[in-house]
Amino acid sequence: MWGLTKLAAMLATGISFLGPNQQTRLEACRVNLHCHLEALLPPVTITSMAKKNNITLPEDMWKFQQTFFYPSFEHFADAYFKMILPIQNAQDYYDGALAALKRFKEIGTCYSEIKFCPDCIVKGVDWQDAYAEIKRAIEESEVEGAFYTRLILTFVRGLTNETNAVSYVDWIVEQHQKGDKLIVGIDVSGNEAQFPDLSPYVAAYAAASKASLKKTVHAGELQGPEAVDQAIRLLDPDRIGHGISAINSSETLERLRKNNIPLEVNIKSNVCLSAQNITSYIAHPFYELLQANVTVVLGSDDDTLFGSSILVEEAAIFDNFPLTQKDIWGIYNTSITHSFAPEELKARLYQMWEQAYSQGYKRSKFRTQE
Ligand SMILES: [Zn+2]
Repeated sequence: MWGLTKLAAMLATGISFLGPNQQTRLEACRVNLHCHLEALLPPVTITSMAKKNNITLPEDMWKFQQTFFYPSFEHFADAYFKMILPIQNAQDYYDGALAALKRFKEIGTCYSEIKFCPDCIVKGVDWQDAYAEIKRAIEESEVEGAFYTRLILTFVRGLTNETNAVSYVDWIVEQHQKGDKLIVGIDVSGNEAQFPDLSPYVAAYAAASKASLKKTVHAGELQGPEAVDQAIRLLDPDRIGHGISAINSSETLERLRKNNIPLEVNIKSNVCLSAQNITSYIAHPFYELLQANVTVVLGSDDDTLFGSSILVEEAAIFDNFPLTQKDIWGIYNTSITHSFAPEELKARLYQMWEQAYSQGYKRSKFRTQE
């Protein structure tokens, strides 16, 4: 059995940059379809931002790093709000996004969809200014043929009301008309147990459908399979965030299969929050979902708060379930299929995946493991 650390070190071959002409040699093409911007800021970035902005961080600021275990969603929210304390202005969003994307590059991510939450932007900063700075960081980080990022605008349960949700969709459509297509879809996140009702978002999702925007929604992470059913019934999603409680209902599993809706699975996040009472990787229904012919794609959710990354997810799968490295590469290919990237970018991503497969996987020591 490979240890997580050893495996992670071995897998950490990413993109080799060959020069200023941006020619690259891809050795990995990891696809991360579920993660939240603010929670991707590396601790070193948060600390230096606090210093720059003269913010004193709480003494117990990094206590969560001891175990990355949260006894409740409220504990998790508390750590999240401490983490974003140093963010003071729009420029900080640029710095934070740039640092997060650099880390993604280092671990061989070739495409990610990052959730951007206008209602989470810190007080005193205009969310559209923050968006402009995040966009600047994404555009500067993009590497032709090797590294791409798109955004998903997420509403927050209990925070984003019906009117605002609709106005955000209208705004995205307006940006698309102006030629800015960085935001590829919408999402609902937040505390599902406290705010289980998705009906405030029906109008916004209908408007998104009309505008051909893609749709995902966090459901069935903390609540039972009925939450997944509700999401499918009310919001007609292209993907579901988490959705792991579906494993408890054969009807819900059938609904996911029939509608070809993949689940964005984030294993470490579920363990850290004991979602569905899952407290270990091995107890996670990831493999059962695959066996039930439900499509899964991967995400890291909140990297800094969970000590997760797409690499950690990959290692957790490899170490705990009877899947080969080739199977995991297959999941990344599926992730491209179900990504919200426009068709021409998808075609590019498939090419990148092929290139990484032939240059990375085929030469990989993992081949002897099969
Ligand atoms: Zn999430």
